[in-house]
Amino acid sequence: PLKPILTPAQQALQPAKPPPAQSGEIELDPEKLAEEMNTCSPLEIMDRALGMYGNDIAIAFGGAEDVALIEIAHQSARPYRVFTLDTGRMNPETYRFFTEVERHYNIQIEYVFPDAGEVEKLTKDKGMFSFYQDGHEECCNIRRIRPLSKKLQGLRSWITGQRRDQLPVSRGKLPVVQIDPSFDGRDGPETLLKWNPLASMSHNEIWRFLTNMNVPINELHTKGFASVGCEPCTRSILPWQHEREGRWWWEETNSKELGINKGNMNNVRPYRRQQEF
Ligand code: SF4
Repeated sequence: PLKPILTPAQQALQPAKPPPAQSGEIELDPEKLAEEMNTCSPLEIMDRALGMYGNDIAIAFGGAEDVALIEIAHQSARPYRVFTLDTGRMNPETYRFFTEVERHYNIQIEYVFPDAGEVEKLTKDKGMFSFYQDGHEECCNIRRIRPLSKKLQGLRSWITGQRRDQLPVSRGKLPVVQIDPSFDGRDGPETLLKWNPLASMSHNEIWRFLTNMNVPINELHTKGFASVGCEPCTRSILPWQHEREGRWWWEETNSKELGINKGNMNNVRPYRRQQEF
Protein backbone atom coordinates (compact mmCIF):
# COMPACT_ATOMS: atom_id res chain seq x y z
CA PRO A 1 0.00 0.00 0.00
CA LEU A 2 1.07 3.58 -0.72
CA LYS A 3 2.22 5.59 2.27
CA PRO A 4 0.08 8.71 2.96
CA ILE A 5 1.74 12.05 2.11
CA LEU A 6 2.09 13.96 5.35
CA THR A 7 2.01 17.71 5.83
CA PRO A 8 5.10 19.25 7.55
CA ALA A 9 3.08 19.56 10.78
CA GLN A 10 2.06 15.91 10.63
CA GLN A 11 5.66 14.92 9.85
CA ALA A 12 6.83 16.76 12.97
CA LEU A 13 4.54 14.54 15.06
CA GLN A 14 5.95 11.29 13.66
CA PRO A 15 8.34 9.37 15.90
CA ALA A 16 11.97 10.07 15.03
CA LYS A 17 13.69 7.45 12.90
CA PRO A 18 16.27 5.47 14.85
CA PRO A 19 19.80 6.69 14.08
CA PRO A 20 21.88 4.49 11.79
CA ALA A 21 23.57 1.74 13.78
CA GLN A 22 26.91 2.80 15.20
CA SER A 23 27.71 -0.70 16.24
CA GLY A 24 26.01 -4.05 16.00
CA GLU A 25 26.47 -7.51 14.72
CA ILE A 26 29.36 -7.59 12.34
CA GLU A 27 30.93 -10.46 10.55
CA LEU A 28 34.24 -11.15 12.25
CA ASP A 29 36.81 -13.45 10.77
CA PRO A 30 39.23 -14.41 13.58
CA GLU A 31 41.73 -15.95 11.17
CA LYS A 32 41.87 -12.72 9.18
CA LEU A 33 42.09 -10.71 12.37
CA ALA A 34 44.92 -12.95 13.62
CA GLU A 35 46.79 -12.43 10.35
CA GLU A 36 46.25 -8.68 10.54
CA MET A 37 47.41 -8.51 14.17
CA ASN A 38 50.25 -11.01 13.86
CA THR A 39 52.97 -8.39 13.55
CA CYS A 40 51.36 -5.92 15.98
CA SER A 41 52.91 -5.20 19.34
CA PRO A 42 51.33 -6.67 22.49
CA LEU A 43 50.11 -3.16 23.35
CA GLU A 44 48.35 -2.80 19.97
CA ILE A 45 46.77 -6.23 20.39
CA MET A 46 45.64 -5.44 23.93
CA ASP A 47 44.25 -2.07 22.86
CA ARG A 48 42.26 -3.67 20.05
CA ALA A 49 40.90 -6.41 22.33
CA LEU A 50 39.83 -4.04 25.11
CA GLY A 51 38.42 -1.58 22.60
CA MET A 52 36.33 -4.24 20.90
CA TYR A 53 34.86 -5.89 23.99
CA GLY A 54 34.75 -3.32 26.79
CA ASN A 55 33.33 -4.90 29.93
CA ASP A 56 32.75 -8.26 28.24
CA ILE A 57 36.43 -9.18 28.18
CA ALA A 58 38.80 -10.04 31.03
CA ILE A 59 42.47 -10.86 31.49
CA ALA A 60 43.23 -14.29 32.95
CA PHE A 61 46.05 -13.76 35.42
CA GLY A 62 47.99 -16.80 36.60
CA GLY A 63 50.11 -15.06 39.21
CA ALA A 64 53.36 -15.38 37.26
CA GLU A 65 55.14 -13.33 34.60
CA ASP A 66 51.77 -12.91 32.91
CA VAL A 67 51.55 -9.81 35.10
CA ALA A 68 52.95 -8.34 31.86
CA LEU A 69 49.37 -8.46 30.55
CA ILE A 70 48.18 -6.23 33.38
CA GLU A 71 51.03 -3.79 32.79
CA ILE A 72 50.16 -3.65 29.08
CA ALA A 73 46.45 -3.16 29.80
CA HIS A 74 47.42 -0.39 32.22
CA GLN A 75 49.53 1.26 29.51
CA SER A 76 46.61 1.14 27.08
CA ALA A 77 44.77 3.52 29.46
CA ARG A 78 41.54 1.62 28.80
CA PRO A 79 39.41 0.10 31.59
CA TYR A 80 40.16 -3.59 32.05
CA ARG A 81 39.08 -6.54 34.18
CA VAL A 82 41.37 -9.20 35.66
CA PHE A 83 40.40 -12.58 37.06
CA THR A 84 42.39 -15.44 38.54
CA LEU A 85 41.61 -19.01 39.53
CA ASP A 86 42.15 -19.56 43.22
CA THR A 87 42.47 -23.33 43.41
CA GLY A 88 43.05 -23.24 47.16
CA ARG A 89 46.43 -24.93 46.58
CA MET A 90 48.59 -21.95 45.59
CA ASN A 91 51.87 -21.00 47.29
CA PRO A 92 51.65 -18.28 49.96
CA GLU A 93 54.03 -16.23 47.77
CA THR A 94 51.41 -16.23 45.02
CA TYR A 95 48.62 -15.04 47.32
CA ARG A 96 50.88 -12.22 48.53
CA PHE A 97 51.70 -11.38 44.93
CA PHE A 98 48.00 -11.07 44.02
CA THR A 99 47.60 -8.51 46.80
CA GLU A 100 50.70 -6.62 45.71
CA VAL A 101 49.44 -6.47 42.11
CA GLU A 102 46.06 -5.19 43.29
CA ARG A 103 47.77 -2.41 45.23
CA HIS A 104 50.25 -1.53 42.49
CA TYR A 105 47.59 -1.13 39.79
CA ASN A 106 44.76 -0.09 42.09
CA ILE A 107 42.58 -2.89 40.77
CA GLN A 108 40.42 -5.58 42.30
CA ILE A 109 41.17 -9.04 40.96
CA GLU A 110 38.08 -11.22 40.45
CA TYR A 111 38.90 -14.45 42.31
CA VAL A 112 37.27 -17.57 40.90
CA PHE A 113 36.83 -20.52 43.25
CA PRO A 114 36.07 -24.20 42.71
CA ASP A 115 32.79 -25.73 43.81
CA ALA A 116 33.20 -26.54 47.52
CA GLY A 117 31.11 -29.72 47.26
CA GLU A 118 33.25 -31.11 44.43
CA VAL A 119 36.49 -30.38 46.31
CA GLU A 120 35.08 -31.93 49.46
CA LYS A 121 34.08 -35.10 47.61
CA LEU A 122 37.46 -35.45 45.88
CA THR A 123 39.47 -35.04 49.07
CA LYS A 124 37.12 -37.32 51.01
CA ASP A 125 37.31 -40.06 48.36
CA LYS A 126 40.96 -39.76 47.40
CA GLY A 127 42.81 -37.54 49.85
CA MET A 128 44.71 -34.32 49.18
CA PHE A 129 47.35 -35.66 46.79
CA SER A 130 45.52 -38.06 44.46
CA PHE A 131 47.17 -36.43 41.42
CA TYR A 132 50.50 -38.08 42.23
CA GLN A 133 48.81 -41.49 41.81
CA ASP A 134 46.32 -41.04 39.00
CA GLY A 135 47.37 -37.84 37.24
CA HIS A 136 46.44 -34.18 37.53
CA GLU A 137 43.38 -34.23 35.30
CA GLU A 138 40.67 -34.98 37.86
CA CYS A 139 41.87 -32.43 40.40
CA CYS A 140 42.54 -29.81 37.70
CA ASN A 141 39.05 -30.34 36.32
CA ILE A 142 37.52 -29.62 39.70
CA ARG A 143 39.80 -26.83 40.86
CA ARG A 144 40.58 -25.11 37.55
CA ILE A 145 38.70 -26.18 34.44
CA ARG A 146 35.12 -26.16 35.67
CA PRO A 147 35.45 -22.84 37.58
CA LEU A 148 37.14 -21.30 34.52
CA SER A 149 34.44 -22.63 32.21
CA LYS A 150 31.77 -21.07 34.43
CA LYS A 151 33.60 -17.75 34.50
CA LEU A 152 34.03 -17.68 30.72
CA GLN A 153 30.33 -18.32 30.21
CA GLY A 154 29.80 -14.79 31.52
CA LEU A 155 32.27 -13.26 29.04
CA ARG A 156 32.46 -12.79 25.29
CA SER A 157 36.23 -12.68 25.08
CA TRP A 158 39.29 -13.29 27.23
CA ILE A 159 43.00 -12.56 27.24
CA THR A 160 45.70 -15.05 28.17
CA GLY A 161 49.46 -14.89 28.70
CA GLN A 162 50.23 -17.92 26.53
CA ARG A 163 53.42 -17.80 24.50
CA ARG A 164 54.63 -19.95 21.63
CA ASP A 165 57.94 -20.68 23.35
CA GLN A 166 56.31 -22.18 26.47
CA LEU A 167 55.49 -25.51 24.86
CA PRO A 168 56.76 -25.60 21.29
CA VAL A 169 54.97 -28.92 20.61
CA SER A 170 51.48 -27.60 21.28
CA ARG A 171 51.85 -23.81 21.29
CA GLY A 172 54.34 -23.38 18.44
CA LYS A 173 51.64 -22.05 16.08
CA LEU A 174 49.56 -20.20 18.65
CA PRO A 175 47.72 -17.33 16.90
CA VAL A 176 47.46 -13.91 18.58
CA VAL A 177 43.68 -14.22 18.43
CA GLN A 178 41.40 -17.19 17.86
CA ILE A 179 37.97 -18.58 18.58
CA ASP A 180 38.53 -20.48 21.80
CA PRO A 181 38.86 -24.12 20.83
CA SER A 182 37.93 -25.37 24.31
CA PHE A 183 35.44 -23.06 26.00
CA ASP A 184 32.12 -21.41 25.26
CA GLY A 185 31.33 -17.79 26.04
CA ARG A 186 28.20 -15.84 26.90
CA ASP A 187 27.00 -15.87 23.29
CA GLY A 188 27.11 -19.66 23.08
CA PRO A 189 29.36 -22.27 21.52
CA GLU A 190 32.17 -21.19 19.20
CA THR A 191 31.83 -17.49 19.90
CA LEU A 192 34.37 -16.85 22.64
CA LEU A 193 37.30 -14.89 21.25
CA LYS A 194 40.61 -15.59 22.94
CA TRP A 195 43.51 -13.16 22.63
CA ASN A 196 47.15 -14.11 23.19
CA PRO A 197 48.98 -10.76 23.02
CA LEU A 198 52.26 -12.27 24.28
CA ALA A 199 52.22 -15.14 21.75
CA SER A 200 55.35 -14.08 19.89
CA MET A 201 57.35 -12.90 22.90
CA SER A 202 60.14 -15.02 24.30
CA HIS A 203 60.79 -15.73 27.95
CA ASN A 204 63.76 -13.32 27.91
CA GLU A 205 61.79 -10.53 26.24
CA ILE A 206 59.06 -10.79 28.85
CA TRP A 207 61.59 -10.53 31.64
CA ARG A 208 63.33 -7.53 30.06
CA PHE A 209 59.93 -5.86 29.80
CA LEU A 210 59.03 -6.58 33.45
CA THR A 211 62.41 -5.32 34.64
CA ASN A 212 62.28 -2.14 32.56
CA MET A 213 58.75 -1.36 33.70
CA ASN A 214 59.60 -2.08 37.35
CA VAL A 215 56.60 -4.37 37.63
CA PRO A 216 55.95 -6.38 40.82
CA ILE A 217 56.97 -10.01 40.45
CA ASN A 218 56.11 -13.21 42.28
CA GLU A 219 58.83 -14.02 44.87
CA LEU A 220 58.78 -17.61 43.59
CA HIS A 221 60.66 -16.46 40.48
CA THR A 222 63.60 -15.47 42.68
CA LYS A 223 63.59 -18.99 44.17
CA GLY A 224 64.10 -20.81 40.87
CA PHE A 225 60.46 -21.16 39.82
CA ALA A 226 60.10 -20.38 36.13
CA SER A 227 56.45 -21.42 36.06
CA VAL A 228 53.89 -20.74 38.79
CA GLY A 229 50.97 -23.01 39.58
CA CYS A 230 49.62 -24.96 42.52
CA GLU A 231 52.11 -25.65 45.31
CA PRO A 232 52.04 -29.48 45.13
CA CYS A 233 52.38 -29.52 41.33
CA THR A 234 55.06 -26.90 40.71
CA ARG A 235 58.71 -26.94 41.59
CA SER A 236 61.84 -24.95 40.87
CA ILE A 237 64.01 -25.92 37.90
CA LEU A 238 67.67 -25.88 37.01
CA PRO A 239 68.94 -23.10 34.71
CA TRP A 240 69.13 -25.33 31.63
CA GLN A 241 65.72 -26.91 32.06
CA HIS A 242 62.64 -25.78 30.15
CA GLU A 243 60.18 -23.79 32.27
CA ARG A 244 57.40 -26.37 31.84
CA GLU A 245 59.64 -29.02 33.41
CA GLY A 246 58.72 -27.56 36.76
CA ARG A 247 55.04 -28.56 36.34
CA TRP A 248 53.59 -32.09 36.83
CA TRP A 249 57.14 -33.45 36.54
CA TRP A 250 55.90 -36.98 37.24
CA GLU A 251 53.89 -37.01 33.98
CA GLU A 252 54.79 -37.10 30.29
CA THR A 253 55.70 -33.74 28.66
CA ASN A 254 52.95 -33.73 26.05
CA SER A 255 50.24 -34.33 28.63
CA LYS A 256 51.16 -31.03 30.31
CA GLU A 257 48.69 -28.82 28.46
CA LEU A 258 46.29 -28.11 31.27
CA GLY A 259 42.68 -28.52 30.05
CA ILE A 260 42.51 -24.71 29.97
CA ASN A 261 44.75 -24.69 26.91
CA LYS A 262 44.17 -28.20 25.64
CA GLY A 263 42.54 -26.76 22.53
CA ASN A 264 46.06 -25.84 21.41
CA MET A 265 46.33 -29.46 20.35
CA ASN A 266 43.24 -29.20 18.09
CA ASN A 267 42.24 -27.20 15.06
CA VAL A 268 40.74 -23.78 15.58
CA ARG A 269 36.97 -23.75 15.10
CA PRO A 270 35.54 -21.87 12.11
CA TYR A 271 34.70 -18.25 12.75
CA ARG A 272 31.38 -17.00 14.07
CA ARG A 273 29.66 -13.67 14.40
CA GLN A 274 30.84 -11.26 17.07
CA GLN A 275 29.73 -7.79 17.98
CA GLU A 276 32.24 -4.97 17.76
CA PHE A 277 32.03 -2.05 20.16
FE1 SF4 B 1 45.13 -29.96 41.58
FE2 SF4 B 1 47.72 -29.84 40.99
FE3 SF4 B 1 45.87 -29.23 39.16
FE4 SF4 B 1 46.34 -27.62 41.23
S1 SF4 B 1 47.75 -28.11 39.53
S2 SF4 B 1 44.38 -28.17 40.45
S3 SF4 B 1 46.73 -29.11 42.88
S4 SF4 B 1 46.26 -31.24 40.10
